[in-house]
Amino acid sequence: MSKIMILVVEDDAPVRNLITTTLKAHDYRYITAATGEGAVMETASHNPDVIFLDLGLPDIDGVEVIRRIRTWSNIPIIVISARSEDTDKIDALDAGADDYLTKPFSVEELLARLRVTQRRLALMQNNNAQQAMFINGQLRIDYAAGCAFLGEEELHLTPIEYKLLCLLARNTGKVLTHKFITQSIWGSSWENDVASLRVFMATLRKKLESRPGSPQYIQTHIGIGYRMLKIE
Ligand code: CA
Repeated sequence: MSKIMILVVEDDAPVRNLITTTLKAHDYRYITAATGEGAVMETASHNPDVIFLDLGLPDIDGVEVIRRIRTWSNIPIIVISARSEDTDKIDALDAGADDYLTKPFSVEELLARLRVTQRRLALMQNNNAQQAMFINGQLRIDYAAGCAFLGEEELHLTPIEYKLLCLLARNTGKVLTHKFITQSIWGSSWENDVASLRVFMATLRKKLESRPGSPQYIQTHIGIGYRMLKIE
């Protein structure tokens, strides 16, 4: 994987040092910021490849930082938050963050998130020329024909299952919140839409995953949403 540059936004010096030490040890390039304003400025002037963004910053809120950056950039943003800030995490994902890390996190988790994001970056670059065919592992979606295959077998999906699969596929590597998904599929996000989503997701997985107990393609984020993983 090519050398990417990471912007680390964190006002808590020990956490920031843990992140930068880890990045340095694994040969990543990085720059840092300790405030929200600083984060927006560094992003504009250095154009990093990935941002690790703490949500609780001393000046402007992390979610606001995401909104500002998203006005001009699709750069992957991995949010860092405390466990008590679950709603903030969901707001951050809805504002356009790609993924999250919950404090306290391990070095391994940090690196794993970074690998997922690098695969997403590679995919974004490949997909710039809007492809008519989506391929991920054994899964193949022929957007033009409106059908999906697992290996040689066509998947017999209901229209909603197919829509769900396409939505997840188009956002591979990104955590999609329940709200985002239900809004995209039904145009609303009431309690019962989220309940229906669970049902449709369960039937989709039964068709897609060889072992629904340990899914390979669609990852569940309890209380938050779902993500399609890029299969290597
Ligand atoms: Ca903080």
